[in-house]
Amino acid sequence: MPYNIVVNSNCNLSCKYCFAKEILSNKDFISLDNINYIVAFLKNSEKKVVSLMGGEPTLHPQIISIIEKFRSEGFTISLKSNGLWDVKIKEYFSSFPENEFFILLNLNPPSTYTPKELETLNNNLHHVRNQKLVFSINIDKTNFEYDYILKYATETNAKYIRWSFAHPIFEKTKKQINQTYFPITQYKSVSDRVVEFIKKANHLGIMTLGDHSVIRCMFNEKQYQEILENNGEFNSKCEGSIDIFPDLQVIYCLPMYSLFEKQYLNEFENMDMLEMFFESRVNMLRKKELPFKECYECEYHLRKECHGGCLSHRIFSTELLDEFHMNWNYSNIKDKTIFIPSNVNLVQNNEQSFVISDDFKIVISNFVFDFLTKIRDTNSIDKAISEMDIDFNLYKCEINKLIENCQNYKILEIAYDE
Ligand code: SF4
Repeated sequence: MPYNIVVNSNCNLSCKYCFAKEILSNKDFISLDNINYIVAFLKNSEKKVVSLMGGEPTLHPQIISIIEKFRSEGFTISLKSNGLWDVKIKEYFSSFPENEFFILLNLNPPSTYTPKELETLNNNLHHVRNQKLVFSINIDKTNFEYDYILKYATETNAKYIRWSFAHPIFEKTKKQINQTYFPITQYKSVSDRVVEFIKKANHLGIMTLGDHSVIRCMFNEKQYQEILENNGEFNSKCEGSIDIFPDLQVIYCLPMYSLFEKQYLNEFENMDMLEMFFESRVNMLRKKELPFKECYECEYHLRKECHGGCLSHRIFSTELLDEFHMNWNYSNIKDKTIFIPSNVNLVQNNEQSFVISDDFKIVISNFVFDFLTKIRDTNSIDKAISEMDIDFNLYKCEINKLIENCQNYKILEIAYDE
């Protein structure tokens, strides 16, 4: 699962898609201490790719130190930016070796910029054309503009354009934050225009990638073949990302940022456990609600090739939320007999510990390995905790999360035999 670090919330553009200004305080900047924590956490998780975003991340006063920290630790870095960085940042980016840096550029149509902003943008893009540039557009209306993206991509020798749809972002109160989104019921109405855009891009030597919110049935077979023949790809699986906020709060995918109770990076062992925590919950929702009645019998859905678009379009209009906030924790199962199914194996070698089944292989810490081993031997959470000789109150949060994750992944099961 991809993950992003939101380094700041402020921006030098007033963009209708911007979430950070709405969700975070306009004064939020990640500290170098928190960057150091993230670096250690990602290294411990054996992750060496990092994506930095904002607001506009180049407005973070220490963005160069942040990038240098990740560079010095051997990370591959990508930056999500609007391209309007200042002279100091421009010179810094110009010093990068060729093709070292991924920059994902979210650009709006030229008519939305002032002449000065356009001049800065053109100048900046010229200076990073030897890096790996990916342009990005969000479709928010039927006659969406795309010529300007093709022009910028051609002028900078960019090889990819990512396209997607604008999604709703809601608060838990069901108050919608961004009013500008494109309803999933209208996706078919733009299919001709999307195919036209893909063909023009291919003619210019540019590949296109439809992001995971695209639904398979918005294209008929003829259109689908044309997309393939023109170097177009799209992914109809709603696969979210994990975003780490400046205060180390972690969220699953921005459109659903308020769905979960607040979680923080330091409550998790590593990225595998964090992914497992979110994925297990989202999987449950994916299965329950689909956008059209045809979806339930749809071959693409049955083959798990289409998730029916971004969950954000339907999740907040359902009653699922109440059901969703389940209360699986230590206090609920401490008196129960629990066991680890026979197809789940705990494996430890000189360097790492794993929990492995037919469906997954997850890196776990030595602490979790010991804990699960004790559970397997005693069939009891309480006995495992007492044998570990730990202060439960210190580990309460981790243990609750661990139990919930393990249940979701069927690493632990409860024997309802009383
Ligand atoms: S699962 Fe639903 S949205 Fe996806 S292709 Fe099938 S009918 Fe369309």
